[in-house]
Parts: sequence; C-alpha cells; structure tokens
Amino acid sequence: MKLNSPKDLDIKKGSRIFLRCDFNVPLDEFGNITDDRRIRMALPTVKYLLDLECKIVIGSHLGRPKGEFNEKFSLKPVVKRLSHLLQMDIKMASDVVGEDAKNKAASLKEGEILLLENLRFDARETKDDETFAKELSEYGEFYINDAFGVSHRAHASVHAITKFYDNNHKAAGFLLLKEINFFYKLLKNPVRPFVAVVGGSKVSGKLQALFNLLPRVDKMIIGGGMAFTFLKALGYDIGNSLVEDDLIEEAKTIMEEAKKRKVKFYLPVDIVAADKFSEDSMVKYVTYQEIPEGWMGLDIGPASVRLFGEALWDAQTILWNGPMGVFEMDKFSRGTSKISHEIARTHGTKVVGGGDTADAVARSGDDDEMTFISTGGGASLELLEGKTLPGIEALEIKE
Ligand code: AMP
Repeated sequence: MKLNSPKDLDIKKGSRIFLRCDFNVPLDEFGNITDDRRIRMALPTVKYLLDLECKIVIGSHLGRPKGEFNEKFSLKPVVKRLSHLLQMDIKMASDVVGEDAKNKAASLKEGEILLLENLRFDARETKDDETFAKELSEYGEFYINDAFGVSHRAHASVHAITKFYDNNHKAAGFLLLKEINFFYKLLKNPVRPFVAVVGGSKVSGKLQALFNLLPRVDKMIIGGGMAFTFLKALGYDIGNSLVEDDLIEEAKTIMEEAKKRKVKFYLPVDIVAADKFSEDSMVKYVTYQEIPEGWMGLDIGPASVRLFGEALWDAQTILWNGPMGVFEMDKFSRGTSKISHEIARTHGTKVVGGGDTADAVARSGDDDEMTFISTGGGASLELLEGKTLPGIEALEIKE
C-alpha cells in the first residue's frame, strides 16, 4: 500500500492545511486531561507544518457527543494543553463549520494554528456525509490525516473528505505512518521468536485477532477474563469466572490449531480468585484446578507470572494486547503490572496495542521501555485482525 508522507507534498510557506488529529484524550470528572499521550504523539506532524510556516486548521473528535454541542465534550482542555506543549498561542473555534470557525480560518496567518470544536458536534461527521466533508476540505488545500485512533471508522473527516483531494494533496501524518509500519512489520516480517500476549475480558472481542495471529506467532500467551473460556474448554471448573459458553468450541479449535502449527500456547496456571467482583472481596491464590465453587478468577497468580515471564524471555518480538486481570482494581492489578515488567525486561521489539493495555503500561511505569505504544485501541485490533481500515485505504495513492 502506497501512502504519501507530509514530506511528499509540495507544501510551502503559507500553504493551508487541514490536519485531522486524534485528540480523544481521557478526562477526569473535573475536565482535566489525565493522559495527554495522543496530543504529544501528534506533535511531530504539527511541528513539521509549523516549521514550514503553514496555516494549519486542526480537526478532532472527543468522546461521543450525540451530534450536538455539549460542553462536556468540548476541545477547550485540549487547546490549552496543545498551547502549553508547543509554547505558543493557538486559536480555538466555537464551532466546526459555522461562522466563527470559517472567519477564524480565513484570518489565520502563516505559522498559526486553529483548532476546530469537536467534529462530532456535527451529526454529519459519523455519517460520513459528503457535504460536511466538502466544507471541512475547504479549510485546506492539503489534507493530512494523523488520527490513527479513528482510522477504522468511515467518518467524514477521515473518509469522505479524501474524495476532495488528489494524490498530490493528501497524506498520512507521521504518527499514522508509524502506527501502520509497526503493525505491518510485526505481522509480515517479525524477528523470531514472536510472542503474542493477549488478555482482556472476552474471547469474542479478540477471536478474529487470535485466528489471524496464530499462523504468524511462535508462542501465544492468554490471560485476563478470556482465559477462563479456554480453561473451561479443557474441562476445568472455573466457578463464577467470566466465561462465554457459546465460544467453547471456538476455544477448542484455537488450541487444536495452535498444536497443529506448533505454536506454544500458554494459559494461566494459577489465579487470584475472589468471592465477589469488588475491591473489598475476599481473595486467595489458587491453582486453575482449584477455583472454589462460587468464586471467580480476577487476575493471574504469581506462578503464571513466572511461567509467562520464562516464555517471554527469549522473545525477539512481542505484541501485547489486553490486561491480565481486572487491573482497574488495585487488588487485581498485580498480574498485569508484573507482565508489563516482564515484557519491559526483554530486549526485542515490544509493541503495545489497546487503550487499556497502554494505560496499564503507563501505570506500571514501563512506557519508556516499550518500543511502541499504539494510540488506537479499536484500530490496532482491526489491523491485527487483518482488516483494511477505511481511513487508511482512503489515503492510498492509486496510480
Ligand atoms: P478488553 O476491552 O476486552 O481488552 O478488556 C479489558 C477489560 O477486561 C478490563 O476492563 C478488565 O477489567 C477486564 N478483565 C480482565 N481480566 C478479567 C477477569 N478475569 N474477569 C473480568 N474482567 C476482566
């Protein structure tokens, strides 16, 4: 797949650029940004355009407002953080394609940035509406998409908009290119041994990714709630742990397929069992054969951490997607943070995908040790499933 980088475009001093970013950052109950990684990761593209003294209009979404203005989802906290990170004043529009945004865009000077309000305040954004896309395209003679986190959606600002630009006027931003390169390289040409560590709540959410990964990996490590469907498929009693009974047969197929392909398949050998799904539950470490009746497994135990750690030790490429337990609760976060440390300790390429997993790595203080942490949960999962993402396909340079 051929994509332009911003450097392939004939951008000059004063060129008008419409830049689609993913500034969908988490906010606390007071509206403070709790993790600004998505903003920081977009800086290389923004700085490149600033150095060229372009007139830059940035569009982003935040959360899921229902197609109308809602202060809770305003990009005002983002403009403050972006100004702070770039050490410059950034203009902010109070609408998306309304009078205020259009006036401010028209009066932009060279080397200035205007941030539009949340694109999803206009209901046409998520409908991939062409008239809305056309209005957005009028903000820039060039279009650059750096919003990996939303590239699995056919939305107006990442999909329909590309119809208004020819091959010489559209490009993927530096972050988007980095995301694609990491995942493509990982799936097409990994340095071996290649180990996939997959966790999270359910098998159903990751089923397709598991099937797509199996022929490519040397080892597969399963943790989190999804492990219990596999353990039940092996005939063990899993108490009240999370399980998807309708996927037991699929779980068996995955394990048989792994055996056929000589992929080493690892499941937890011990777990942290709790009498209820709560921070103030009673907990105990048990082997997977001995989950007490009525109890549930909410994290992997120390023996599993040791086992997984040993399996990871010789890895040259590691892909991690999904926590090992209910890491949001302190009591059940240890398995995830220890696996984060184990992955961090290895020497190969370590790629982390998924919002929860990125969050867990940051909490464990291992972010600097990872080779790459993806900014897109859903989008990176779809790449792992082998899907073509509409936002990326729309940028493809067709001869
Ligand atoms: P996912 O969105 O599928 O990646 O799943 C992430 C969620 O899985 C997190 O919110 C975890 O709390 C949850 N999770 C991980 N392990 C378990 C478990 N053993 N039981 C229930 N939920 C879990």
